[in-house]
Amino acid sequence: MIQETKALFIIFGGTGDLARRKLYPALFKLYQKNYLKKHFAVIGTARREWSDDYYQEIVSQAVSDEDTVTEEAREFASHFRYQSHNVNDTEHYETLKILADSLDQEYSIEGNRLFYLAMSPSFFGTISKNLKDQQLVTEKGFDRVIIEKPFGSDFPSAKKLNDQIRNTFDESQLYRIDHYLGKEMIQNLMAVRFGNSLVESFWNHRYIKNIQITLSESLGVEERGGYYDTSGALRDMVQNHVLQLVSILAMEPPQTFCAENVTKEKVKILSSLKYYSKEELDNHFVRGQYAENPARPDEYSAYRQEEKVDEKSSTETFVAGRLEIQTPRWKDTPFYIRTGKRLKDKTTQIDVELVNHSLPLFGEKETAKTVFSLKVDPDKGISLYLNGKKAGPIIELESIELSKLYTKEELVNSPEDYEKLIGDVLKGNSTNFVHWDELAASWKFIDHIRGMWDSTTPEFPNYPSGSMGPEASDKLIAQDGFSWFLN
Ligand code: NAP
Repeated sequence: MIQETKALFIIFGGTGDLARRKLYPALFKLYQKNYLKKHFAVIGTARREWSDDYYQEIVSQAVSDEDTVTEEAREFASHFRYQSHNVNDTEHYETLKILADSLDQEYSIEGNRLFYLAMSPSFFGTISKNLKDQQLVTEKGFDRVIIEKPFGSDFPSAKKLNDQIRNTFDESQLYRIDHYLGKEMIQNLMAVRFGNSLVESFWNHRYIKNIQITLSESLGVEERGGYYDTSGALRDMVQNHVLQLVSILAMEPPQTFCAENVTKEKVKILSSLKYYSKEELDNHFVRGQYAENPARPDEYSAYRQEEKVDEKSSTETFVAGRLEIQTPRWKDTPFYIRTGKRLKDKTTQIDVELVNHSLPLFGEKETAKTVFSLKVDPDKGISLYLNGKKAGPIIELESIELSKLYTKEELVNSPEDYEKLIGDVLKGNSTNFVHWDELAASWKFIDHIRGMWDSTTPEFPNYPSGSMGPEASDKLIAQDGFSWFLN
């Protein structure tokens, strides 16, 4: 029997894209499953002057298919109120407090508050300060804050932001979202790794030749050119999603799955990443920027021609790198990472290449790779590629795939990333959120690379849209005698 959590959500950025596309549908799913029911209310705030009725209409539409708004969607939306609010104006917090207190009474919420900061992080410090000064954080019930990326643009700015927020909230009240941590298959990775002695027995440098992590996107920067041109793939993808995946793949088994123990193990990995010299970095990291595709000139524009992008931009839209994790488990096992925009497909996949000392019984022909693959998106599943006998009169090897792909029906009960993560916040479970110590360690590592990259001007653009990135990315892995498993 599901127990509802009493909660008042205050969503800063209630008119924004994230709120409409992700948050309202996620809250609706939690409502349909009874995690939220009678004792919940939402205040959406932003500068636009909207009425409650209009806001409720927007919310009902956001959780409905096309034109059919159900009674249930309307009932859900009736829990929503709107306040026009410029977060920089102090007096708005007074009205916000009055509204919050009255909704708390109306829905018997008993002081539980979730503040969702779904707007530019440059406002987080101001919002946190005012929430405290104007006593919107409550004495009774819980106060929890959900924070979106990007959390800073380097270690000093992330620390400054963190210090500002920490003037009001403790680390234990902060839930920093990395939506990859809400993905079904990333959570499944923990189950597969720690739920099978077989897997745990080969999960080390003795049996793993290399690990490859690919987060490829087929789209370009679309309408995010202005932001992206100041960020680039290293900050936008590697600092957060890629390093989070690396830390989960490489960490030692935590004592329990509680946030404290998982964070401790992840931080150990992030702090064990080898910092390269300039020469090593040139050998082990590749950056790229997409160009048009000469074969399909009408289909794609180059990054430098995108809206709000500098026409001489040196911003990277692709990163590939070889990471070294200096722990006994991963001695001499490289982790190759690869992420970029305008690549062939939108895919997230982790490929673990196992050593294969097959006996010299099969003639000259090389045996195929033995690979354990975790397919995260768009397919979701696990495959093990082994050498088997090709059906026929003689013993000849071929690669065979043992595969478990989750069907739509199997995934029907699997919540979307945001539903899962907001559900965790309601339960007060921060295991799948990013602790400050993880953020600090990953920013320091990224700043080191950024600092060296920023001292030289790359020769961009260097890969055609629709490819798998610059040729140098293939050479990077080939110099160790390997190749990308996913092509
Ligand atoms: P957005 O569509 O531009 O929304 C920004 C929101 O902030 C709007 O509701 C805007 O409303 C409000 N706002 C701006 N200035 C304000 C002010 N001075 N006072 C009060 N409200 C103000 O952005 P978004 O895409 O929703 O993204 C929000 C945050 O989530 C960003 O930090 C983004 O990086 C992060 N994020 C977004 C996504 C996504 O899928 N969209 C994914 C991951 C992370 P008014 O104009 O009405 O004031």
